[in-house]
Amino acid sequence: MTFEYAPAPESRSSVSISPKYGHFIGGKFVAGTKHFPTINPATEEVLSKIACGTKSDVDAAVKAARKAYVGTWSKMSGKERGKYLFRIARIMQERAREFAVLETLDNGKPIRESRDVDVPLAAAHFFYHAGWADKLEYAGLGTSTKPHGVAGQIIPWNFPLLMLAWKVAPALATGNTVVLKPAETTSLTALLFAQVCQEAELPAGVVNIVTGDGSTGALIVNHPGIDKIAFTGSTEVGKIIARAVASTKKSVTLELGGKAANIVFDDAPIDEAVEGIINGIFFNQGHVCCAGSRLVLQENIADEFLEKLKIRMNKIRVGDPMDKNTDLGAINSQEQLLKIRELTIAGDKEGAQRWSPECALPSKGFWFPPTIFTGVTQGHRIAREEIFGPVLSVLTFRTPQEAIDKANNTPFGLSAGIWSEKGSRIFWASQQLRAGVIWANTFNKFDPTSPFGGYKESGWGREGGRHGLSAYLKGFSHE
Ligand code: ADP
Repeated sequence: MTFEYAPAPESRSSVSISPKYGHFIGGKFVAGTKHFPTINPATEEVLSKIACGTKSDVDAAVKAARKAYVGTWSKMSGKERGKYLFRIARIMQERAREFAVLETLDNGKPIRESRDVDVPLAAAHFFYHAGWADKLEYAGLGTSTKPHGVAGQIIPWNFPLLMLAWKVAPALATGNTVVLKPAETTSLTALLFAQVCQEAELPAGVVNIVTGDGSTGALIVNHPGIDKIAFTGSTEVGKIIARAVASTKKSVTLELGGKAANIVFDDAPIDEAVEGIINGIFFNQGHVCCAGSRLVLQENIADEFLEKLKIRMNKIRVGDPMDKNTDLGAINSQEQLLKIRELTIAGDKEGAQRWSPECALPSKGFWFPPTIFTGVTQGHRIAREEIFGPVLSVLTFRTPQEAIDKANNTPFGLSAGIWSEKGSRIFWASQQLRAGVIWANTFNKFDPTSPFGGYKESGWGREGGRHGLSAYLKGFSHE
């Protein structure tokens, strides 16, 4: 007997979306010139029109940020700066439902995740950094720390509000002002955040938000009035940015792609590990740079494990992101859906075996079923390239050393997972794995106090914790 879930839709009534938006510069909303639509990827409904930032918009934003830095923010005590950050955090909590609904409409992620993960964590980042603002001399980073000045920040579409918080909160706490560009498909929560800055009476120009696409991002990266660049996005664009700033004095942090191995040893508690693998790859439709996209499974438990994994995958509810019971929402854009399709077709062609549970996908919008590939070898594209979707590639191993070798056989090094009952094995494996974040018997756990970032092509520098503060202070290199 199967039990069906009754629909449990979240109401849209908490949000009001303007038909058209401009930029937020110098504490005010200013009209843009060119606009492009932003859509709900679950329905293809046009939600609003977003301005595409031009050179004069970026110039105006940098000028406003410099003025605020020189005239106000750099002169203010850490204690005063902290008050603004606390105020922003509290307003985000008060308006949490509005943020969650707007994020889900614009991004396609399940409301359960935007409500329980993205928005509370974004507020937590402001609370955490508010606490540091007047204690920077106790962060172990020297007694007379200095901010860079104006930070240019470019963020992706997978956690729009949360990535904004990761960028803006440490920048402001350390005394920088910012020009931030959200991703072109997910600008709405950044524009709502601009309203929060107004409500918190943040001095004009401390936070400036210029919307737009990659061309606007490039204008920020190359602007001579910017002292520091912080970027989260693809490794491809990260490399372009690294080249662009190489001959300048700009400081840079890059948080790029990943292809994390989630290693399951044969002594792991199987049911917990299955749950961890599910969370590792299907959380946020797999649009997660640290997603556990390679399951590295000990061969002697592979059959039993995969059988249980498939049973669990059969229970994943795919569909309306606004339904509180939904586990897997929409793919963020048609472009991303095409990338996922291309890589999975390459997986078929290279001889891996594809499996997905039977699930009816909505007829409108962008959807991809939860999918696993077995029989994957290290040479396959689906083992090497970031798919950034709900697709798990399964590799097997016989000895612990083979697991480590396979896990490290990637140009990336962002995260990894270890599932084992043995503490000594966890310690051993975590020392061998070349990844910035390693979870043991859990996965995808985030906290503002713990530094996050990668090795190799996964990026430069860390975000979060004391390490993340150093990225916004003069005198610390990115590595
Ligand atoms: P994804 O593959 O996740 O879409 P991208 O790296 O393309 O990631 O995008 C991440 C962010 O970088 C977005 O805000 C995007 O507009 C911006 N961006 C894209 N191209 C450039 C560029 N050449 N310079 C600066 N920013 C860019």
